[in-house]
Amino acid sequence: MNRQEYWNPVLETMPREKLQHLQFKKFKRILNFAYARSKFHRALYDMAGLTPEDISCFDDIKKIPKVEKSMMREIQNKDPFPYGDALCVPIKEVSVFRQTSGTTGQPVYQPDTWQDWEWWSECWSFTLWAQGYRPEDRVFLPFGYNIFVAFWAGHYAAEKLGCEVVPGGVLDTKARILKIKELKPTAMMATPTYVLGMADTAKNKMGIDPRELSINKITCAGEPGASIPSTKKRMQDVWDARVYDHSGATEIGAWSYECRHQPCGMHVNEAMFLVEIEDLNTGKIIEEPGQKGKMIITALDRMAQPCIRFDSKDVIEWDPEPCPCGRTFRLIRGGVIGRADDITKVKGVLLSPGAIEEVVRSLDGLGDEFEVIVDKQGDVDRVKLKVELMHGKTRSSMENILKDQLRLKTNLGYQIEFYDYGTLPRYDVKAKRFKDLRKKNISERECRL
Ligand SMILES: [Zn+2]
Repeated sequence: MNRQEYWNPVLETMPREKLQHLQFKKFKRILNFAYARSKFHRALYDMAGLTPEDISCFDDIKKIPKVEKSMMREIQNKDPFPYGDALCVPIKEVSVFRQTSGTTGQPVYQPDTWQDWEWWSECWSFTLWAQGYRPEDRVFLPFGYNIFVAFWAGHYAAEKLGCEVVPGGVLDTKARILKIKELKPTAMMATPTYVLGMADTAKNKMGIDPRELSINKITCAGEPGASIPSTKKRMQDVWDARVYDHSGATEIGAWSYECRHQPCGMHVNEAMFLVEIEDLNTGKIIEEPGQKGKMIITALDRMAQPCIRFDSKDVIEWDPEPCPCGRTFRLIRGGVIGRADDITKVKGVLLSPGAIEEVVRSLDGLGDEFEVIVDKQGDVDRVKLKVELMHGKTRSSMENILKDQLRLKTNLGYQIEFYDYGTLPRYDVKAKRFKDLRKKNISERECRL
């Protein structure tokens, strides 16, 4: 075993049986803690007729009720302000406030203690080390340092590893590119949308080729793009850097990471989290690899506002293959495949926005941006796809190949609209490229606001 490969060789290569035992012990600990300290958790388990003593083996865990995001919103209207009765520590022990972005409704507030925050950066340390970050690296972070968790813990983890961190906070994209040119950082963290957006600004507005800059590795989070092969390839080609995926969430923590072997998936940090996959139709827990479902996740060490069997709505599947890196942490194949809310039925066929992204970004003649709009024409579902043509490409040269590839990958026909390069909306951080107008009784224009 090459110990240099791992941030924590003991945990990352622990035999599966031992790892499961560790997860169970930690699960019991957090369950006992929440039951004793939080009115919300106690009431939830009492209603189900369960106490922590009823959980006596690993298999019992699935008896514990799930927590939905909407429940967190409700309890936050209660005392103590602003967290409500899921708070498990005296409020004086809370050392940092964050909140979710609120893209799916009212934001959820997230308290963390100092120890919780240490735990966040420890989880990120597994990620960065696995992706080849070392003390010699100078790391540039081009994100808005504010109330959203974003890359804050990545910042502290990079410091913890001994890297030199350059916080590129209140700078615009051009100023950030100039800072990269000046300081020659070797690594960067950003959303896939912003990684491509920065490259576009450098090339087309500043005459700077990102490949000539010093970045050799990029950690992506916030969107699934770094696990979508064609998007990953675009990012790697345009920056001449290795691009790695990572997934985390404000209410959960930093729960998974791609390693430097790029196995087309991410390792779940199973020493810190318990991930279960629930069948979307039957609600049963899926044990075997190769079957998609939504992730139910427990953060095994987070104390101020515990995350116990949280219904994340992320769609994932276990990979049947082990990773060449030697970690015993299981892989989820293809990263986070989508959101249970976004994976929708169109003409009776399951459509994942990621599948369309994979096709669009695999064609050289198309720009990075696209937009998908699902609506109804009479009683029939219709999918409209808006794409940008790169300079020198014609509609006739692209339309058939695009339609063929889409039909092959998604089993659906599309109404394609072509636009000139640079005319579709650009996004700074996370993109909103998928709109299902059938779900909302609103027009396409309103949806964009
Ligand atoms: Zn690996």
